[in-house]
Amino acid sequence: MIGKIDHIGIAVSNLDEAVKLYRDVLGLELHGTEVVPEQKVRVAFLPVGDTEVELLESTSAEGPIAKFIEAKGQGIQHIAFRVDDIEAALEEMKAKGMRLIDDKPRYGAGGAKIAFLHPKSTGGVLIELCERK
Ligand code: ZN
Repeated sequence: MIGKIDHIGIAVSNLDEAVKLYRDVLGLELHGTEVVPEQKVRVAFLPVGDTEVELLESTSAEGPIAKFIEAKGQGIQHIAFRVDDIEAALEEMKAKGMRLIDDKPRYGAGGAKIAFLHPKSTGGVLIELCERK
């Protein structure tokens, strides 16, 4: 079901500062930035090999990234696995007793269909399932 790690989501308090680290110091290529109003984030995409680093800056004090940073500080916020069919993947996860944050897929950065599994079911790791055409 899972093809690869689609991306790693990193919560940052200042996107421009974070880009300086990943692009200018680590040498990754910045592929672009996008605001995703649904998730109250501004995202920078930095492909690396077959996967991607996504830097996430909150656009609102009420957003999930702002809350994450408030509770835990900056750092890795989630891991996204690529799936072919997200509806089928969610059904399978539900059938296997996983708690879901999203019963139905929603739209994420880059036009992907995404859904999160609840960290209470995954040993504390926020896992995102991600389908891209
Ligand atoms: Zn993500």
